[in-house]
Amino acid sequence: MRSIRHVVAPVVAILALLGCSPTDGAVLPTQPPSAGAAGIGDRDFPLDGNGGYEVSHYGIALGYTPATKRLDGVTTIRARALQPLSRFNLDLSGLQVAEVSVDGAGATFSRQGDELTVVPATPLGSGARFTVKVGYGGQPRPITDSGNLGTFGFIPTPDGAFVAAEPNGAKTWFPANDHPADKATFDFEITVPRGLTALANGELAGEPTTSGGKTTFRWRERHPMATYLATATLGKFELRRGETAGGVPNVAAVDPAYRGSLDKLHTVSGEVTDHWSKVFGPYPFSSTGGVVDDYSAGYALETQTKPMYGGFAPDESIIAHEIAHQWFGNSVTIQRWQDLWLNEGFATYAEWMWSEHRGRTTADAHFAALRARPATDAFWTYPPGRARPDDLFNDAVYKRGAMTLHALRKEIGDQTFFALLREWVERHKYGNATTQQFVTLAEQRSGKQLDTLFDAWLFQPRRPA
Ligand SMILES: [Zn+2]
Repeated sequence: MRSIRHVVAPVVAILALLGCSPTDGAVLPTQPPSAGAAGIGDRDFPLDGNGGYEVSHYGIALGYTPATKRLDGVTTIRARALQPLSRFNLDLSGLQVAEVSVDGAGATFSRQGDELTVVPATPLGSGARFTVKVGYGGQPRPITDSGNLGTFGFIPTPDGAFVAAEPNGAKTWFPANDHPADKATFDFEITVPRGLTALANGELAGEPTTSGGKTTFRWRERHPMATYLATATLGKFELRRGETAGGVPNVAAVDPAYRGSLDKLHTVSGEVTDHWSKVFGPYPFSSTGGVVDDYSAGYALETQTKPMYGGFAPDESIIAHEIAHQWFGNSVTIQRWQDLWLNEGFATYAEWMWSEHRGRTTADAHFAALRARPATDAFWTYPPGRARPDDLFNDAVYKRGAMTLHALRKEIGDQTFFALLREWVERHKYGNATTQQFVTLAEQRSGKQLDTLFDAWLFQPRRPA
C-alpha cells in the first residue's frame, strides 16, 4: 500500500491554533469533496494509477472461454479515501463496463481512454473505507508497445491466456489502481472450461470445483502485491506440487509442449528459493514456483510467487533472476518506474551470484567483461538510475544496474554488502522504496560517503572512471 499522506496534519495544526478540540463543538474546517486525480503522480506515466484513495484488496472473479476469447468479470475493490472524494478513477483498458456500485449503491460512471471515472451516489469522506464493485466483460486486448516493452497484459492463446502485465497491463483484465505504488492483497476466482487449469498468485483456497462443464479455481495472495505482478494464466497445464527442501510450498506448471521441462523447473525453482532465503533473508511469500506457457512472449516475468516464462524452457540463470525478484521488486517494490534498476539491477546481480554459487563464471568476471566494453559503446550512454519510459527495459537498467551493486560491494566489502541487502529487504518488506533510500541506507551501514560512486554508476551517461 502507498504510504499514508499527511492530509490530517493541517487540520490538527489549525485546531491547535484555535485552542479548541472537536469535543468543544467547534466546526471542523473541512475540505469540500473533489475529484481524485487521474494519475497517481508518476511523472513518467502520468495517467497510471489514480489519486485520492489507496486500495487494500482486490477480489477478482473471472470467467474466460478460450473458444470465444470472451472474459466476464466482477472485480470488488476495498479502498480507503485519502481526501474527500466526489469522484475517483480506476484504470481499465477496453472491455465494456456493465455496472458499478460503491458500498452497494449504484454509481454513475464514464470512460475516457483507459480511465474509468466513478461517481458515488454520496461523496466519500477523507479516510472513509469503501468498496467498489465493477461488472464488466468483452474480449481483452493486450497492450503492444512500440518501444521495447513488447506485448503484455491479458494475452489470449489457442488454449487459454498468458497473463503478464508489466508495466501497466493489469488494466487489460481488471479495473485497478494500476501502478506499483499502490499494493494490495488479492483473491481470484477463475472459471474455465473443464479440462483447463487457471493459475494465479499465492496458494489455492481449496481444491478446484467443477459443475456444468466448467471448473473454478480459487487462489489467494495474502501478501501485498503490485498490480503488474498479478496473473491469471490459464490453459492446458501439467502441474507438479511439492515443497522445497527448506519447506516452502512449490508449484510448477508447464504447457504440455514443455512437458520435458517440468522436473527441472520444479527442482531448480525450489533450490534457488532456498538459496536466496539464506543470502537475502527469509522467503517473503507463502509459496514459490514457476509457469511455462507456449506463448512466445520473448520474456519472463516475476509474477508474484509464480514467475511466468513465455514460450521457452528457462535455464538456471533466468530462474535465479525471477526468483530473486520475489525479494527485489515483489516484496520491496519500486515507488516509481524510473527506479527500475532496484528490480532489474538486483535480479541481474543475482544471476551473477548464482553462476558463482554453481562454480561457473564469478560475479567479478561478469563485471570485468562488461567493464571492458569500449567507452564509446552505446551501453554507457543510458544512465540506469533514470529508467526512461520509452525505453524502460534497456539492457543498461539490468547490467549496469548489476555493475552498480558490484562496484558497491567492492567499495564496502562483502560483510557490509550482504548485511545491507538483508536489511534493505527486511526494512521495506511488502512496501515500496526509492533509489535515494537505498543510497542513504548504504551510506549509513558502511559509514562511507557514496554519492560519487552511485552518481557515476547510476546517473552519468558515460563509462565510470
Ligand atoms: Zn527481471
